[in-house]
Amino acid sequence: MTKGIIFDIKELAVFDGPGIRTTVFLKGCPLRCRWCHNPEGLSAAPQLMVSLGSCTHCGRCDEICPSPEHCITCGKCVPVCPLHLRRIAGTPWTAQDLADRLLRDKEILGMSGGGVTFSGGEPTLQGTFLLEVLPLLRGMHRAIETCAYCDSALFTAILAELDYVIMDLKLADPAAHRQWTGVDNGLILKNLRILEDSGLPYRIRVPLIPGVTDTPENLNGIAALLDGSRHLEQVELLPYHRTAGAKYEMVSRVYDPRFDETVSPRGDLSPFAKRGIPASVL
Ligand code: SF4
Ligand code: SF4
Repeated sequence: MTKGIIFDIKELAVFDGPGIRTTVFLKGCPLRCRWCHNPEGLSAAPQLMVSLGSCTHCGRCDEICPSPEHCITCGKCVPVCPLHLRRIAGTPWTAQDLADRLLRDKEILGMSGGGVTFSGGEPTLQGTFLLEVLPLLRGMHRAIETCAYCDSALFTAILAELDYVIMDLKLADPAAHRQWTGVDNGLILKNLRILEDSGLPYRIRVPLIPGVTDTPENLNGIAALLDGSRHLEQVELLPYHRTAGAKYEMVSRVYDPRFDETVSPRGDLSPFAKRGIPASVL
């Protein structure tokens, strides 16, 4: 049985689909968006996170570490830190254990029309695990938040076990998509058509990055891609927040956005309005 690597489980989530939900964050993402604010979700493997800003250099973590040259994520240094500055992001779960945990709240979440949402990282990167846990949750409202960059057969199989989809669309132009996320958007657009043809209700999220995704060309391009969609419920524009880079140092990564973070992004809804697509800025 596959084990899922999960870096967070958020209860009482109200922005991750209909009603009140439990959101499960799966580790690993095939994209490298310059604005990513969840760097602990990029690697598929568990990893140590350290808040170095408050460290008093007491040395307790070094004393207990069995592998100072190369962290093996054993977790031994986590409980010895008196300031609780260290944690392991990424815990293995079996599908059955996760389902048991989620089903505990099935009735109460269901009263609001809610349920469970799998997010990340990019949850389809752990597609085998998803296909084990989703059938165990039948009867609970099941959603996914995805960039849809995954094998189309896998995407189709996952959709068959879902009630709702939140899909990110970042850039309509393939070259710009490669430049800012590291991958081409051809597969994503193919999977968007598969999603539309599945008949599942879905919403599209567009991160508003100043000078990158918030341009009239890009918002018009995305609106054109969505023109005529029958099962699209709404488009949500998500303004960039300047705190995005805060966690990079904790996972030994460098935040290098390469766009002007001091500029506020523009949330122009008119490209969607003129096509009759409901849209809002979150
Ligand atoms: S988790 Fe902590 S104790 Fe374990 S190898 Fe990494 S730094 Fe050392
Ligand atoms: S145990 Fe905590 S406070 Fe002490 S050196 Fe390690 S991280 Fe810093």
